Amino acid sequence: MSPDENKDSSSSPPSRRTFLLASGAAVVAAGAAIVSRFTNAPALLGLDRKSGPRISGGWVNESAALGHRLRDGASMPTPRRIVRVPAVAVGGGIAGLSAAWQLERHGFRDYVLLEMERDAGGNARGGENAVSRYPWAAHYVPVPGPRATLVRELFRELGVLTDTGWDERTLCFAPQERLFVHGEWQSGLDAELLGSHTGRDELHRFDDLIAEQRRSGEFTIPMALGARAGSALDRMSFAHWLDAAGLRSPAMRWYAEYGTRDDYGASTRDTSAWAGVHYHAAREPTEQGPLTWPEGNTWIARRLAARVGTRLITGTPVHRILSNGRKGWRVRAGDAEYLCDDVIFAAPTFLTPYIVEGMRAPGFVYSPWLVANLTLDRWPEERGVPPAWDNVLRSGVGLGYVVATHQALRAREDGPTVWTYYCALTTRDPATERRVLQTSTWSDWVERIMMELAVAHPNIRRCVTHVDIVRLGHAMVRPTVAFLGADARRDPQWAPRGIHLAHSDLSGLSLFEEAQYRGVVAADAVLASQHRR
Ligand SMILES: Cc1cc2nc3c(=O)[nH]c(=O)nc-3n(C[C@H](O)[C@H](O)[C@H](O)COP(=O)(O)OP(=O)(O)OC[C@H]3O[C@@H](n4cnc5c(N)ncnc54)[C@H](O)[C@@H]3O)c2cc1C
Repeated sequence: MSPDENKDSSSSPPSRRTFLLASGAAVVAAGAAIVSRFTNAPALLGLDRKSGPRISGGWVNESAALGHRLRDGASMPTPRRIVRVPAVAVGGGIAGLSAAWQLERHGFRDYVLLEMERDAGGNARGGENAVSRYPWAAHYVPVPGPRATLVRELFRELGVLTDTGWDERTLCFAPQERLFVHGEWQSGLDAELLGSHTGRDELHRFDDLIAEQRRSGEFTIPMALGARAGSALDRMSFAHWLDAAGLRSPAMRWYAEYGTRDDYGASTRDTSAWAGVHYHAAREPTEQGPLTWPEGNTWIARRLAARVGTRLITGTPVHRILSNGRKGWRVRAGDAEYLCDDVIFAAPTFLTPYIVEGMRAPGFVYSPWLVANLTLDRWPEERGVPPAWDNVLRSGVGLGYVVATHQALRAREDGPTVWTYYCALTTRDPATERRVLQTSTWSDWVERIMMELAVAHPNIRRCVTHVDIVRLGHAMVRPTVAFLGADARRDPQWAPRGIHLAHSDLSGLSLFEEAQYRGVVAADAVLASQHRR
């Protein structure tokens, strides 16, 4: 998972090593024995285990069972107490937390935020072990451009943006990205393209086409500021657009596929040309960043959750939302029934027909993903350029791994680390992939991940001690062809009065900025509705 590559060397962020020296924290690192991991020689030679160790771990954060009970109409608890509150927000991911942030900023505290899981954050949750904190899904936010005003306001409030600029500890240290191709690690995800005349030519033409699209003003963040339902690019697939542009070399097609698999969990065939172009055109090519933390976007989610205080109620799945006639809505969760005027629905929109009385399915398609956190007791053997934050294997079925300790100033460069491995399941249709994912075993997946990574790190099995894996059946929405024109997005009457949809899936782009924007817009609608009463 990575943002557009930073091609402007003049605005390059500091490397972790430079930062350590500059900040005086070098003292911490100086005592550590640095054994080169940048050569083909085994790291910490002589300490290799004679036989592969047992790897511990298992599935974590499993919540599919509740979703299936909702889908199958299983009986749910009968309410035993009534709570009257003007507004209820359902779902404490970034969208729900951002809605709460906006309500709080306006001094409105007559609401509750109900979250199904034990911790808020949704796809911006993370974990921690003795080695490092790490993300369970979202791990960065691109440095927001001038039009992403809400993101900038939040980062000012959190101290990430000050009058002197972005907090340097938060800007991703260099090197940011590398690609394992032709038997070695090379700099940048475009390494393969840059290695041949055809590749360079196609990349040049691709960049020109993207620059032209960028000038059209259609590709903005948040997307609502520029997207048009009638866009010609929304009516064709990204694969079709690439074909039409004559961009056909295997290296170019891999580069484009990587982008859509990375941001949408979908192939270029299953992504609209509008969304495929958006991935590249919505960001400035010379932007700094991204902003990242060892635990990923959990860093933000925790701070947002802290602002909500006791109004956030976790471990509380909402199982039914019933109309209360002119009086509003009855929201059922656990043994409580909340009587309210307004509901912010920040859980995934595909759940509405199972939960909200009278609502239809939005018809959106969702991609299944798998995320694994691997704990390593040392850095494994490898060949080529030094490790980066984001490390992608050209031959991999997965999207590679992000190094959680990359941004941690106290971590030893050759010492224990945690890698977050990402895999979007794009080969078969999502329903089949979900079924296979649900019936596969943890050890099958560990084996598969080890085989994939062994191509670049031959002794990986000897270095990995623990693997926890999360299965995300409906991880992110796919911006399929004609997504922009979908009724659920365009028709203001699609959701009944008093139900304010807020999930990032309404944007078709599963991004922090979109979740925040949708949450804030829904909160504004609630504030207006409450003001009228
Ligand atoms: C593997 C992966 C990696 C990603 N990486 C990035 C990244 O690096 N950067 C980025 O910007 N974006 C990334 N994303 C996208 C990420 O989804 C968004 O950034 C954002 O976090 C979505 O927030 P949300 O609130 O819209 O949705 P969600 O995170 O889906 O939150 C929905 C919430 O609703 C809750 N909920 C569901 N049903 C109920 C119910 N019945 N009752 C109560 N609560 C319920 C859920 O538990 C969840 O907390 C990634 C996504 C995935 C899957």
